[in-house]
Amino acid sequence: MTTSNQGLTALKAVFGDRYSDNANMRQEHSTGEGYISDAMPEAVLMLDTTEAVATAVGICSEYSIPVIPFGAGTSLEGHLVPVNGGVSIDLTGMDQVLEINVEDFDVKLQAGVTREALNYELKTSGLFFPLDPGANASLGGMASTRASGTNAVRYGTMKEVVLGLTVVTPNGDVIETGGRARKSAAGYDLTHLYVGAEGTLGIITELRLRIFPVPEQIRSAVCGFATVNDAAQCVIECMQLAVPMARIELLNSCQMGACIEYSKLQDFTAQPTLFMEFHGSKASVDEQIELVESVAQEYGAQGFRWAETLEQRNQLWTARHKAYFAGMALNPGASVISTDVCVPISKLADCIELAEAKALELGFNCPLVGHVGDGNFHLLIPFYPDNQAQVLAAKELSHHLVQLALALQGTCTGEHGIGLRKMDYLIEEHGAKAVQTMAVIKRALDPKNIMNPGKIFEL
Ligand SMILES: Cc1cc2nc3c(=O)[nH]c(=O)nc-3n(C[C@H](O)[C@H](O)[C@H](O)COP(=O)(O)OP(=O)(O)OC[C@H]3O[C@@H](n4cnc5c(N)ncnc54)[C@H](O)[C@@H]3O)c2cc1C
Repeated sequence: MTTSNQGLTALKAVFGDRYSDNANMRQEHSTGEGYISDAMPEAVLMLDTTEAVATAVGICSEYSIPVIPFGAGTSLEGHLVPVNGGVSIDLTGMDQVLEINVEDFDVKLQAGVTREALNYELKTSGLFFPLDPGANASLGGMASTRASGTNAVRYGTMKEVVLGLTVVTPNGDVIETGGRARKSAAGYDLTHLYVGAEGTLGIITELRLRIFPVPEQIRSAVCGFATVNDAAQCVIECMQLAVPMARIELLNSCQMGACIEYSKLQDFTAQPTLFMEFHGSKASVDEQIELVESVAQEYGAQGFRWAETLEQRNQLWTARHKAYFAGMALNPGASVISTDVCVPISKLADCIELAEAKALELGFNCPLVGHVGDGNFHLLIPFYPDNQAQVLAAKELSHHLVQLALALQGTCTGEHGIGLRKMDYLIEEHGAKAVQTMAVIKRALDPKNIMNPGKIFEL
């Protein structure tokens, strides 16, 4: 029996029916969204306590079995692909909200709680958790990819909202990082080492997060522009005027057309469109709206439409959140590269204009959607895997977009992470010495390289 088989036998003996080597189960845990791979984990463990995770990781460490933490499986860059086989540890059963501290605006929860489930728990508290990736991701997965969403322009990304973590280290120890205090100067900041580590340094089993008061006033609006450039210039000016917008999202004509069709939006036009939301007191919201309307008019905005009721707001933002699937529906059966560049806000209009021009040159009419208040946008590149010329063109466009963002002092990934697809760009973005420093940390914390191996950078 190989070491790996002995290890799997040991896991099966300890975990009984929480261990599965069923082919469908392994297939479901073999990748996330939008990344094709043949690799499958050898087994899946469904675990629901920190102690169980620690025991499992301890056994995997003893037998040098790779471990891939699994949240909700919505990551987009091949993060979950078990390149060296191993065991997928599924944390969906870790779904308990453990504390809601209304006075201090913080919560403690298990890593498998999803963002929607957390907001459901907070429903009657007058508080909410604002970060909203388009998918209903787990909070452990969101911390691990340093995720954000439409509200990040106002409330920050996972980097800003995680106060502390419980982590199972690669040898099966359990450590606590951070705490409830709003600031601390006590030692190395381990919390932020694990935020964005993509499961390569340990498994997050519990998180302490900031939550926020539901604003007195929330108003959403949509307005169209003649060109994407006009819409982007409007966003840049609003940001430079420091308007504290809660959300400002751009959809190009192709994406807007797709959303109208997919979400059955009535009376909208397939043109470059900004979706906006304003949070605050009535006076502050009125002031923000007045300023933004006047800036938008400068750039030729065509009519503001206001969503006044909760139902209207939900309809708009649901359509926005389904933009990825609306874009996919344009080319039935096609795969997509979602892309995720982010640039300094002053370079946003240039970056979008050059990206769209390159897409057209390569024969693509791509949906574009962006959290443009942060300088972050996604060009959804569709391709049919059996059309080799198109596959190559899609890869060329994706590569070109990253080069463009880096040349504009941006990043290859604003929020999705590196996973497998962006590994080649890490040295380009940070330099060889910085990536070597990351490798030193990885080797020190995970000397057997069992935690989600083969991701972020090559060891
Ligand atoms: C339609 C759609 C829209 C999206 N929109 C956005 C968006 O607006 N913003 C954004 O940031 N992302 C977006 N994403 C990407 C995705 O939702 C995020 O990357 C999310 O954070 C992944 O969370 P998850 O729970 O699905 O993690 P998974 O996909 O399960 O895992 C992601 C990575 O984290 C690791 N991991 C998971 N849980 C843990 C844990 N507890 N401890 C340690 N490591 C762990 C995994 O090993 C893997 O490397 C979108 C995806 C889709 C499909």
